[in-house]
Amino acid sequence: MPPTDQRAKTGPAPSSLKETDWSDFRDHIATADKEGRRMWLFPKKPRGRFYRGRTWVTWILLVIMFGGPFIKINGNPLLMVNIVERRFSVLGVIFWPQDNLVFALGFLLFLMGIAVFTAAFGRLWCGWTCPQTVLMEMVFRKLEYWIEGDAGSQKALDRAPWTAKKFGKRGLKHGLFLALSFIIGNTLLAYIIGIDALKQIVTDDPRTHITGLVFMVLFTLVFYGIFARFREQACTFICPYGRLQSTLLDENTIVVAYDYRRGEQRGRYRRSETIQQRSSKQLGDCIDCRNCVSVCPTGIDIRDGTQMECVNCTACIDACDEVMDKIGRPRGLIRFASLNGIEKGQALQVTPRILGYCVILLLLGAGLVTMLLTRSDIDATLLRAPGALFQPAAEGKISNLYLLKLINKTHRPISVQLKLEGTRGTLTTLGGQLDLPAEQQTEASVLIEISPDELASGNTPLTIGVYSGERKLQSIKTIFVGPRK
Ligand code: SF4
Ligand code: SF4
Repeated sequence: MPPTDQRAKTGPAPSSLKETDWSDFRDHIATADKEGRRMWLFPKKPRGRFYRGRTWVTWILLVIMFGGPFIKINGNPLLMVNIVERRFSVLGVIFWPQDNLVFALGFLLFLMGIAVFTAAFGRLWCGWTCPQTVLMEMVFRKLEYWIEGDAGSQKALDRAPWTAKKFGKRGLKHGLFLALSFIIGNTLLAYIIGIDALKQIVTDDPRTHITGLVFMVLFTLVFYGIFARFREQACTFICPYGRLQSTLLDENTIVVAYDYRRGEQRGRYRRSETIQQRSSKQLGDCIDCRNCVSVCPTGIDIRDGTQMECVNCTACIDACDEVMDKIGRPRGLIRFASLNGIEKGQALQVTPRILGYCVILLLLGAGLVTMLLTRSDIDATLLRAPGALFQPAAEGKISNLYLLKLINKTHRPISVQLKLEGTRGTLTTLGGQLDLPAEQQTEASVLIEISPDELASGNTPLTIGVYSGERKLQSIKTIFVGPRK
């Protein structure tokens, strides 16, 4: 049945299915047309002081990003998130899954840090330091400008028939994109499994590292897909941080903003017209050249106000400053400013909300530092051997068998001894002395024998001290099972 007949039968569309107002930027995204098709963006190459600043920041970040896996502290990676083996290294310190409290606190601290930073400075992180934006705008996009030229040439090439020249340019671009994605994919893999394991995958017989090779290809294709095709959509649709901004930003947050009080009402610029003549026509400083829109990598018009797509990349600030220089007006029609800064001329305010966030941040930070400073050198767990009850032993004693798990969290070998504390009995480590190499874990069986006279009940609590020499490293609590009394 045709849709019109269907409507006639069922009546008017429910009010919730509101028609899209295509003149209102809030009603649709800038990168989709009325049919919902993706509108490919060809942003103009930015230039200006902020772009130069971002280029310097990018160089530093790229060195850190790609050099990170090669840096070791105390023989451990600077950063390693080995989810497979559940080993984590931060600034050369190895963390184990048993350090879950440290992780939880660290994660909370990270989230709170984001909240404070975003509440004060908006999405500065996104535009200047997020790996997605840094790699997309400052690496892949620059390669694209180098091969295909600026926005106008890219559009022309896109519309042109598939000639040898177009094949050549597109082939070179996508070949380089793939090669770069391969490097990025391998770098990510190095952060997960460590550079030594990655070197083994690269140098060994490929048949012995099928899983590693599969991930290498997978990561390469994912990054190629993101940087060659998905691009700004990753920030608009996928990144949860971008979605958070609506709850974190307020009228005192510093964002990339258009000074509408100074810019409106917009009007074309005429060379012959003086500033007084423009003012007499109620015209502001915005000459409606749309240069700020044409450089925007997310395709938005910042003059509409703060929008979720804006990654604070500052390209529009540079574009507008250049225009202001040309027409002899002060820079900063688009600038870093808060809504209150623009509307009321207020300077950056430390609001109670930011102060509150900072207090929580400090408390979490202090908690984390305390936990790290008091972190035990080892992690010991003692569990009763599965299925084993008490056994009669020599001299009328009763024995219980336990399974001991030990992790050496330090960078040096540790020799560990166990002592029964507060209860008379004997403790024997089956396997002799426990020598733990640096950052390794081991398991051993432990036999405890106690005379029934020493036992208060069928389940007697025991405390076992874990020592290295004379130094007590940890106390373990367990239960000794004996006959009911
Ligand atoms: S670049 Fe500046 S002057 Fe040109 S449209 Fe944008 S805000 Fe107006
Ligand atoms: S509006 Fe300006 S700061 Fe925001 S993404 Fe576009 S160019 Fe970058």
